[in-house]
Amino acid sequence: MDDAVLAQLIDALPAGTVLTEPDLTESYRDDWTRSPAAGRPAAVVRAGSAADVQTAVRWAAEHRVPVVPRGAGSGLAGGVTAVEGCLVVSTERMTAIEVDPVQRIAVAGAGALNVAVKEAAAVHGLWYPPDPGSFRISSVGGNVATNAGGICCVKYGVTTDYVLGLDVVLPDGRLVTLGGTTVKDVAGLPLLKLFVGSEGTLGVVTRVVLRLLPAQPPAATVVAWFDTPQQAGAAVAAMGARVRPAMLELMDRATVNAVEDFRPLGLDRTAGALLVGQSDAPGAARAEEVEVMAACCREAGAREVLSTDDPAEGDMFLEARRAAGPALDALGAFMAEDVCVPVHLVPDVLDRIAELARRHGVDVPVFAHAGDGNLHPAIRYEPGDPDSVRRAEAAFADIMREAIACGGTITGEHGVGRTKRAALPEQLGPDVLELNRRVRAALDPLGIMNPGALC
Ligand SMILES: Cc1cc2nc3c(=O)[nH]c(=O)nc-3n(C[C@H](O)[C@H](O)[C@H](O)COP(=O)(O)OP(=O)(O)OC[C@H]3O[C@@H](n4cnc5c(N)ncnc54)[C@H](O)[C@@H]3O)c2cc1C
Repeated sequence: MDDAVLAQLIDALPAGTVLTEPDLTESYRDDWTRSPAAGRPAAVVRAGSAADVQTAVRWAAEHRVPVVPRGAGSGLAGGVTAVEGCLVVSTERMTAIEVDPVQRIAVAGAGALNVAVKEAAAVHGLWYPPDPGSFRISSVGGNVATNAGGICCVKYGVTTDYVLGLDVVLPDGRLVTLGGTTVKDVAGLPLLKLFVGSEGTLGVVTRVVLRLLPAQPPAATVVAWFDTPQQAGAAVAAMGARVRPAMLELMDRATVNAVEDFRPLGLDRTAGALLVGQSDAPGAARAEEVEVMAACCREAGAREVLSTDDPAEGDMFLEARRAAGPALDALGAFMAEDVCVPVHLVPDVLDRIAELARRHGVDVPVFAHAGDGNLHPAIRYEPGDPDSVRRAEAAFADIMREAIACGGTITGEHGVGRTKRAALPEQLGPDVLELNRRVRAALDPLGIMNPGALC
């Protein structure tokens, strides 16, 4: 890029806002997918305010420079994989949080970490439920842009259920406010919802207004060990009509072993699968829910079922589940699937995944937000071995095809990003795909926002 053009951007922003040195921009090239295709940004803007974002986006529009909006870079879909010569707009410095306990809302800069919003809410006895496994390392702006889910969404819903308002810098540099602070608001088209899950393709979110709930009641935990993941899946399917757990998570043997290697917790390495459920129902209903979950596990053939009211013990299993991603990451490269299928089909889909893993000769540990039917097969591969990469890619495509075929989706919570873009036409069909592209083009006629991502 022409130095004079870059100098215009540097001069227009507060000192120190723009990074251009390759050793400083290096860590802004990618997310957890660590794509070998990641380009080198021409510059990174570490915006301190919405006005900085506007300046950056206006400059990019004038010079037709692709913009890659970036939160904390914890994505698992390649949504922030840099385009060669792009401008990365990072919200990492926009971290202010204000809680209004009367309205039960938090107003946060897009770069505030999810955990920081939870902590700020807790000071007032309030709770921000969305809890991706990455809640300590992901930003609320990134959570909004991916409509992040997590562990408690089986009962409490996903990010969009908590977004009341957004400030967004549009691709032409205008700053708009969508929604506000009220739960009810039906003025105009529901554009607020359009931006939730738009993966940085429609604008840069700079501020979010989030709904808070009263603090979560204490939970009781059920832990069940099975010989096979399919049995665990059958227990999950059986619970569907009978209880409303506050979480219901599954790890297969390979994942349990990866977690034990990473952070020894005394989990049973020999079992085929571990299922962890929680109930936070009030009063006596909690014990009843726990008993129903335990009964479903026993009926599905669990070899051991435990339950506990001790929050510390329950947290230990929760932490084990949250360690699944980092533990598998520590073993080496994997392609992160995020398929979501009807809950009653979880056992069948687990069978099909095991069959596809055998057919393609790949290791595929599976962990899951099982209560949502949201499965995370992690397809392991050797980045330096073209045959290993080819087999992993074939398995990746086939598992998504399987999800579509059974009425599910290629992505439940991570987003399409760049890694699942090839499967989107099959998921959406030509008319809906075209509709996606028309909406995008209407907001971003120059096509500068996160090109190559989503659709
Ligand atoms: C260990 C681990 C566990 C995870 N567990 C979960 C889970 O349980 N549930 C889940 O949903 N995800 C999970 N994720 C994936 C990831 O953390 C989420 O997708 C998260 O929402 C990304 O937030 P981020 O701030 O890191 O965004 P980034 O990775 O920086 O960006 C993600 C996408 O959002 C866009 N974006 C980011 N900020 C903005 C903004 N301000 N305006 C516009 N677009 C923006 C980017 O362009 C990109 O397309 C996990 C990831 C890891 C590493």
